Amino acid sequence: MEPRWGLCGLENLALIPGSVGAAPIQNIGAYGVEVGERIVAVEAWDRGTRQSVRLDRAACAFGYRDSAFKRDPERWIVTAVELELSRDTAPRLDYAGIGEELAAMGIATPSACDVAEAVIRIRQRKLPDPAVIGNAGSFFKNPIVPATQAWALHGEHPRLHGGVSRRRRTHAQALCRWLIDACGWKGTREGDAGVSAAHALVLVNHGNATGLQLLDLKTAHRRLGARTLWRCARARATRHRRGVVNA
Ligand SMILES: Cc1cc2nc3c(=O)[nH]c(=O)nc-3n(C[C@H](O)[C@H](O)[C@H](O)COP(=O)(O)OP(=O)(O)OC[C@H]3O[C@@H](n4cnc5c(N)ncnc54)[C@H](O)[C@@H]3O)c2cc1C
Repeated sequence: MEPRWGLCGLENLALIPGSVGAAPIQNIGAYGVEVGERIVAVEAWDRGTRQSVRLDRAACAFGYRDSAFKRDPERWIVTAVELELSRDTAPRLDYAGIGEELAAMGIATPSACDVAEAVIRIRQRKLPDPAVIGNAGSFFKNPIVPATQAWALHGEHPRLHGGVSRRRRTHAQALCRWLIDACGWKGTREGDAGVSAAHALVLVNHGNATGLQLLDLKTAHRRLGARTLWRCARARATRHRRGVVNA
């Protein structure tokens, strides 16, 4: 299967719901690609100066699920997004599961559409279908902790392996899914607001939960998660002081 216009670059973002204008706000990303990597410029209405401006990629200040627009939501209304796509970019397959899925599909030299199809299959298998149960997708951002703490956590909890990013020198991401699993929240619920039984990062609405109830659940989990990270680090530091572990 070939892309309709032969353009590649967004295939890893297949099945993320939402409008084009919202995509740069949180710099949507999945399966090893963030939309900010493909954005050349964003046109936006500046409510402060009451002018339309064109912000290049640097001015958009994209970060992990973050951007200049998200940091100043009262100021910007995105009106257009300029993307740089290519006809000959090598597909990015290094994210967990894509290569295996393509192999299972019997595809050795995948096109962008093949990668999109593989991503769609993985997402449909792993994530609850919003048409069946209302959900907010992968809701939580991975916490960024100092690299030393991340490696210490990995030493204590080998299942955290893979959640530790080697991309950053000074900080690393502690895998949020692991943290939620470790706290035993998967499948739990407060009234109709809950954590998916299938995927620890997904908040679900079992019926009539309000947005506020989901936000309350998020706040409680974030607080407890931070406390768990802190407790893990403190326990290790104590053992280290007593000479029980070598770091
Ligand atoms: C089932 C599911 C799966 C998901 N999977 C992923 C995923 O894999 N990766 C990922 O990154 N996200 C994911 N999301 C989150 C969601 O898809 C994105 O946040 C998407 O960009 C939301 O688009 P929307 O049009 O619904 O925006 P909304 O939710 O309506 O708005 C999001 C924010 O952007 C602002 N906004 C919207 N449009 C504009 C505009 N034109 N100008 C200025 N501000 C604007 C809104 O005010 C709001 O603050 C998922 C969500 C769901 C429900």
